[in-house]
Formats: sequence, structure tokens, C-alpha cells
Amino acid sequence: MEPLLALQEIDGRIRALQQEIQDLPDRKEQEKSRLKGALGVLAAAQSNLKITQLNLNAAEGEVANRKERMEKLRQQQQALKTNRDFQAMTHEITRATDEIEQCEARQIALMDEVTPAAARVAEAQAKLSADTEIVNRYLKELDRRMADGQAELTQCLTERTGALKAVTSQQALLAYTRLLPKRWPVIVPLEGGTVCGGCHLTQPPQMAHLVRRNAGIVSCQTCGRILYSAD
Ligand SMILES: [Zn+2]
Repeated sequence: MEPLLALQEIDGRIRALQQEIQDLPDRKEQEKSRLKGALGVLAAAQSNLKITQLNLNAAEGEVANRKERMEKLRQQQQALKTNRDFQAMTHEITRATDEIEQCEARQIALMDEVTPAAARVAEAQAKLSADTEIVNRYLKELDRRMADGQAELTQCLTERTGALKAVTSQQALLAYTRLLPKRWPVIVPLEGGTVCGGCHLTQPPQMAHLVRRNAGIVSCQTCGRILYSAD
């Protein structure tokens, strides 16, 4: 039973390593997805800054246009002959001046928005690069674990070849190999001399007796696992 238990111990390590190697790509993806939040905040801040700047450009353009138009009105006013026309134009110029003031107020308000919007972009960029650094460090760590795991697995598989040779009973080896893909662990102690350590069902007394005598392969009547005496 000793060589078989040694084989099972190696198989246990192999299973754990294979599981770890299999899970690592998913864990890397999970790490990468942690950046999504910071990327989203940055994209929103950048878009907000861009819109503010576009609005500001539009406001500046509008102020310039309106000033140009008012200049024309002033020139036209000089050419007017009647008092009535002149006064009507004065009204129009006053209205245009008010409108320019409103546009300029909007322009100033937008100018005030640009600085904090740019600060939010810088803040989001800083957060993203800090997060990226953390994630990259962890990804590197996972890559290192992958390489270590694969090296360790290769080592275990070599050890397994040796452990297989140490099992002298072909019957035992066959029983173990058949159960390996279906039950884990394959070999379990007969707990308290009566209960299968795998499925926890009580075995008939004659089974316990056989196990204690170490008389060949004794299998649990329910789950089929190989039983050994833990005493
Ligand atoms: Zn059992």
C-alpha cells in the first residue's frame, strides 16, 4: 500500500498544478478587466473636456461674428439720412450690444469650465496609470506562477514515472489507474476501522478485517475507492 500512497501523493500535486495552470488565463483576464472602470472614467472625462472646448470655440466664434456685424451696423448708421432711420438703427445696435454681452458671458462661463474639466482628465489618467501598474505587476506575478507551475509539473511527472515503477502489484496499479479519472482521492483510510474515508459509508465487518490484514486490494462497496488501514 505504501508505494500506491506515494503515487497518489504525487498525483495529488499533479492535479493541483494542472488546476492552477488551467485557471491562470482566467485570472489574468479578471485582472485586466479591473482596468475597465478607470478606462471608462477617463473616456468620460476626455469626452467632457472635448465638448467643453468645442462649445468654447463656438462661443468665441459667435462673439467675433456678432462684433463684426455690429461694426457694419455702425458704418451703415453713418450713411443714414433721416433721424427716424438713425434712431431705429441705434435701437438695433443696442440690442446687438446686449446680445454680444450675453455671448461673452457664456464664453467666460465655458472658459471657467475648461480648467476643472482638464484637471478631471489628468486625475483619471493618473488613476488609470496607477491601476495599470498594479495590474501589470500582478500579471507578471501570474506569468511567473505559470512558469513555476509548469516546471513543477514536469518535475512531478518525472517523479511519477519513478513512483509507478515502485508499485509492484499490477492488480493494485490497475485498480488505481481505473479509479483515478472517476474518484479523488482514490485511496482512502478506513476511518475508525469501519467507515470509508471517501464516501463515509460504513463497511461490513469482514471488509474491515481484510483491510486490517492488508490482504490485497479492498474496495469500498459503495464508491469503489481503495481502502487502507489508518491504524
Ligand atoms: Zn466509499
